[in-house]
Amino acid sequence: MRQLIDGIHRFQAGVFGPQQELFRRLVDGQAPDALFITCSDSRVAPNLITQTKPGELFIVRNAGNLIPPWGQDNGVTATIEYALECLDVSDVIVCGHTHCGAMTAVLHPDKVAKLPAMRQWLTFAEGTRRVIARHYPNLDPDALEDVCVEENVLCQIENLRTHPSVMAKLAANELTLHAWVYDIESGGVHAFSDAKGQFVPVTEAGQGVSARGLRAGRIRDI
Ligand SMILES: [Zn+2]
Repeated sequence: MRQLIDGIHRFQAGVFGPQQELFRRLVDGQAPDALFITCSDSRVAPNLITQTKPGELFIVRNAGNLIPPWGQDNGVTATIEYALECLDVSDVIVCGHTHCGAMTAVLHPDKVAKLPAMRQWLTFAEGTRRVIARHYPNLDPDALEDVCVEENVLCQIENLRTHPSVMAKLAANELTLHAWVYDIESGGVHAFSDAKGQFVPVTEAGQGVSARGLRAGRIRDI
C-alpha cells in the first residue's frame, strides 16, 4: 500500500498539477471515442498501451475480457449500453492478451474447480472452449493457449453483436468493432484483419472486423 500512497503524491505533484487544464475540462464531462473491453490482468494497461489520456477510453475489465450475450448479465451489458447510447462511442475494442489465466482455465477447467464464481463466469467462454475442442485437437499446449486467446476475442465479438445497441449502430454504419490481442512479452498488438482472415500487426489490420462472416475461412488457415 505504501507504494500506492506514494504514487498518489507523485501523481498530484507531477501529473495533475502540470496538466490542470486537461483535468479541469474533464469536470464538464467525458466524450471518449472508444469502448475498450479487456481482461482484469494487472499486466494489461489500456491507457499505457494506447497512449491515451483520461477521458479518452471508456473501459470494461473482467477476467478473460468476456461479454455475456444480451440478457444474461447486468453489469457488462449496462456498461456497453451506456457507452453506445449515452457516450455515443464510434469504436468498440475487445482486447485479449497472451498468457491469460482465464483462457488457461478455459482449456483446463480443473484449475478453477474450487472457484465456483469463476467457473460460472467462464461459461461465457463456452463458445471459445468448443471452437478449440472441435478445431484444434492436435495443437501443442503453447500454441493452443495463443489460439485460445485469439478465438476467445472473436467469440466475444460475436456475443457483443447480440446486444441491441450494438446491432442498431452496426446497421447504421455508426460503429466499428475491433478484435485485438496484446502480447505481454513484446508489447505488440495484433488485430483481426477481415481481408486476411488472421490476426496481423494492428497497423496492418485495416478498419475493424466485419458484421458477418468473421471466422469464415479462418480455422483452416491455421
Ligand atoms: Zn487475462
